[in-house]
Amino acid sequence: MITNYHTHSVFCDGDNTPEEIVCAAIEQGFSAIGFSGHGYTDFDSSYCMQDTAGYIAEVKRLKEKYKNKIQVYLGVEEDAHCLVNRADFDYIIGSLHYTRKDGKRYPIDSDYECFKTCLELWNGDVLGFAEEYYSFFCDYILKRRPDIIGHFDLITKFDEMDTSLFFANDEYNRIAEKYIKIALQSGCIFEVNTGAISRGYRKTPYPNENLLRVIKNNGGRVILSSDSHSVNTLAFGFEQARTLLKDVGFKEIYTLSGNGFVKEYL
Ligand SMILES: [Zn+2]
Ligand SMILES: [Zn+2]
Repeated sequence: MITNYHTHSVFCDGDNTPEEIVCAAIEQGFSAIGFSGHGYTDFDSSYCMQDTAGYIAEVKRLKEKYKNKIQVYLGVEEDAHCLVNRADFDYIIGSLHYTRKDGKRYPIDSDYECFKTCLELWNGDVLGFAEEYYSFFCDYILKRRPDIIGHFDLITKFDEMDTSLFFANDEYNRIAEKYIKIALQSGCIFEVNTGAISRGYRKTPYPNENLLRVIKNNGGRVILSSDSHSVNTLAFGFEQARTLLKDVGFKEIYTLSGNGFVKEYL
């Protein structure tokens, strides 16, 4: 069964219209597709939806129009810094794309320059940066309990660009492990996100293998996400991600159905 619930369209920073995406998903054999436009952030309009009402109306129209061919879901990717009206959506992906310093927010993942700026704000203190990121994120996760936790270790997006600041640092790995155990208390589903692979930043999905083992060993649940911004990457890297999950010991993943999230055997 091919499904994806992390999909961006022209309503935010994606390349295609929702209808082009639905048609491509049908053609590619998907049984379900979920849209997850970036929820509006009042402090940064560079990438998020400006017309949330238009987005909701369009996805609902497509849900009805294509209901005999594919299940269409209306989701949203909410940033932990700016909450959406949850009742408007079938599900929410809760993500964190910013670091805070002296009351200001800075995007960590827009590009490598942005990431380096964030690190400079922390005077190169990788561990302090990671502590702030994960503690804010976990606080949000436990309070909000989003349906899906988005790219848990996004902070490591550029770790393969230069020398490894994170994965090669045992102290960082301990911090990430400590916090993912806190996030696991929420019972929320973690996405295994291949978006950085399709965009050429990474060779492996978020969260990294070490964290996937912690999820597995603590009874956590996972769902596959392509974090797609184009019709060409709707299921990008899913075979690789399935193999990785099996290697780690997962027997099942989750998908969305009319009755909520259900098990699918790997
Ligand atoms: Zn995101
Ligand atoms: Zn996304």
